[in-house]
Amino acid sequence: MPERMCVCCRNKGEKKDFFRISLVDNKYIFDENMKVQNRGAYICKNPQCIDKLSKHKKYNIEIAELLKMLKKIQKTGKNIIDILRPMKNSEYFIFGIDENIDGIKKNKIKLLIMPVDINKKYIDEFIKLKEKFNVKIIEIERKTDLRDIFLKDVNVIGVFDKKVVNGILNKVEVTNESKGTRIG
Ligand SMILES: [Zn+2]
Repeated sequence: MPERMCVCCRNKGEKKDFFRISLVDNKYIFDENMKVQNRGAYICKNPQCIDKLSKHKKYNIEIAELLKMLKKIQKTGKNIIDILRPMKNSEYFIFGIDENIDGIKKNKIKLLIMPVDINKKYIDEFIKLKEKFNVKIIEIERKTDLRDIFLKDVNVIGVFDKKVVNGILNKVEVTNESKGTRIG
């Protein structure tokens, strides 16, 4: 069996150990079923390598494609919702895009619960801030899940109390196959 290699960390393995990306119209896409016949590359199925890929000069790939890969290895949506539900009256949450951007920049917010159906430019912004300010991000699928809990429109939730942050992180079920966690 031919060996494949992750273009980010250079680990070797079999095809099934990796995600494939393929070049389509000068951009790489997540080739989920490994069916695209174009030039491609392999990436480990872990958040660290996907994160590296986002900065890799040689591979022009959009955040949406990276998120698709992350989604494959990260299954916490339901669980984080269940964790948040009893906390709905907590004073440790910060709501709103601008409020959270501000809170992160002031080093107050250390955990963000981010639906991936918010405006892509905010996703990009939060991912940038995450790296700069060492914030954890838990992605969920739909912001309407948050409305069901908080009974108002919620784009994103920031958590600033360290104990609450750790409490949530400890409770989130992690179902990644490799060493990393689903939490970025
Ligand atoms: Zn790798």
